[in-house]
Amino acid sequence: MSFKAMACENAAKTLIPKFEKRGMAAYYCATKEEAGKKVLELMPKGSSVTWGGSESMVEAGVIDAVKSGEYEVIDRHAAKTPEESRAVYGKMVCADFHLMSTNAFTKEGMLVNIDGASNRVACLAYGPKNVIVLASMNKMCEDVEAAVKRIRSQACPPNAVRVGAKTPCAQTGVCADCLSPDCICDQIMITRMSRVKGRIIVVLCGEPLGF
Ligand code: SF4
Repeated sequence: MSFKAMACENAAKTLIPKFEKRGMAAYYCATKEEAGKKVLELMPKGSSVTWGGSESMVEAGVIDAVKSGEYEVIDRHAAKTPEESRAVYGKMVCADFHLMSTNAFTKEGMLVNIDGASNRVACLAYGPKNVIVLASMNKMCEDVEAAVKRIRSQACPPNAVRVGAKTPCAQTGVCADCLSPDCICDQIMITRMSRVKGRIIVVLCGEPLGF
């Protein structure tokens, strides 16, 4: 095992009790393959599953596996009209599992997310019976302030490019604290704890995932 991998595993061992103290369940997987397998293991066959935009879940092979697996898939991208989109969102909030990454987490076990449309953070806060958060260890930050800085400097520019947002960060690669119509930073959410014990399940991954 490399020194970096050992350090990741040590940090995960430190973090897991901190998430648990906040009412979240937490696991550590060294590789993205193991992390993807763990996410799938946590969801019984036949469960209804939805997700927010998450490159981490895509890179770990979870979204493809869900789409081709024995699950009831609730995919907001299947909606063709605003009315259909609203109807799908109604189903999303009642799903058995909501899958997402987290833009960052603190070394004290708080999740920090920034969202534009905000369905992702809304489902994290309330609605779906369970939320599985796949988070690579390189998203660990010193505190909330550092987490917000990391997200806006490292995660938002590529995310804005990914969704085709016409924002300053998509064009320049640097946050301009914009209020543009396409802004992907409408909501900044800090998840301090899960009131329903174990509803939020964090799967930490030793390999880098997402942005
Ligand atoms: S505030 Fe605007 S420019 Fe800054 S990261 Fe968010 S979308 Fe990009």
